[in-house]
Amino acid sequence: MRELNTFGFDQTAEALLEVTEAEQLTDIYEDARLPRPFHVLGGGSNVLLTGPVLGTVLMNRIKGIELISEDDDIVRVRVGGGVVWHDWVLFAIAQGWCGVENLALIPGTVGAAPIQNIGAYGVEVKDVIDEVVAWHGALGKFIRLSALECRFGYRDSIFKQELKGEVFVTEVCFRLRKHAQLHTEYGAIREELQAMDAEPSVEQVAQAVIRIRRSKLPDPAQIGNAGSFFKNPVIDASLFESLLQRFSNMPSYAQPDGMVKLPAGWLIEYCGWKGFRDRDVGVHTRQALVLVNYGHATGAEIWNLSERIIASVQERFGIVLEREVQVW
Ligand SMILES: Cc1cc2nc3c(=O)[nH]c(=O)nc-3n(C[C@H](O)[C@H](O)[C@H](O)COP(=O)(O)OP(=O)(O)OC[C@H]3O[C@@H](n4cnc5c(N)ncnc54)[C@H](O)[C@@H]3O)c2cc1C
Repeated sequence: MRELNTFGFDQTAEALLEVTEAEQLTDIYEDARLPRPFHVLGGGSNVLLTGPVLGTVLMNRIKGIELISEDDDIVRVRVGGGVVWHDWVLFAIAQGWCGVENLALIPGTVGAAPIQNIGAYGVEVKDVIDEVVAWHGALGKFIRLSALECRFGYRDSIFKQELKGEVFVTEVCFRLRKHAQLHTEYGAIREELQAMDAEPSVEQVAQAVIRIRRSKLPDPAQIGNAGSFFKNPVIDASLFESLLQRFSNMPSYAQPDGMVKLPAGWLIEYCGWKGFRDRDVGVHTRQALVLVNYGHATGAEIWNLSERIIASVQERFGIVLEREVQVW
């Protein structure tokens, strides 16, 4: 599966199957010859393969983009779960639709986007999702979930909780705006737009995001990684106040519910991990939140490094980091 995961781990699966049409799923889930369990794989940009994969890997290749309805302000669009996320973003921008431009260049597929409610630069995919359609293996039928029913949270959804491992997302329906309503409040985006000397538009915001991401994040084609390895911890205000007594320069983001989000990258860097390398396993030199495979690392080695990082952050700050990547 080396080409199928962005860490580039050289692992095997018992069976691999491409799914190009949602209708195939009935037969696949009934086929007693296929090894169980089933694992759904998109672009492999958020998985950590810690050993050979037992069971059948179903590769989501369901394509198609279809306009369902439109009025003066809103378009509703159905997108196949196997469509490459960034291709969908470019398509939407080319139509002049607004809503996904801040999420440009996030690797992976449309079907995986609701799983962890992908987000970047002040926007989360939940903001533009109308409905998610999925095959439910145990029920043997398709289910449709509204955005509310998906119970989206920060890098979280029902698909990582009750429905974990139970469903195959076949399509996502989006609601996008026809008139630009841009999110440029992020300092980095504002600065980039200024540097580009560009009038803010949907296209220019996407270009700014693309430029920022290219300058900040390691390209998996060059160095194996899965983006942010850990979630940013969200802690209550009283704990934050007591931490601030000891770490006065600790950055933080107040949340609407009174909680406080801390940048995990800062905590990890503070513990001295940034740029750490042991043979082919490492922490990226410019971004402490990204664990990297310099060539022949295994998923188990990256897992062990992540355990050490979690332990040292816990010892220093009393905070337990949670992994963002899905461990297989
Ligand atoms: C360089 C880099 C930068 C990144 N930046 C960001 C970022 O800014 N914001 C962000 O949120 N994420 C980011 N990520 C993480 C990743 O891009 C997203 O999580 C993305 O949605 C994963 O898509 P995928 O198709 O590769 O999923 P995969 O890695 O294939 O799968 C991830 C998990 O979702 C499940 N899954 C996938 N597809 C389906 C489906 N159709 N139905 C049911 N379950 C499914 C899998 O079983 C697996 O558990 C980044 C990753 C990289 C490598």
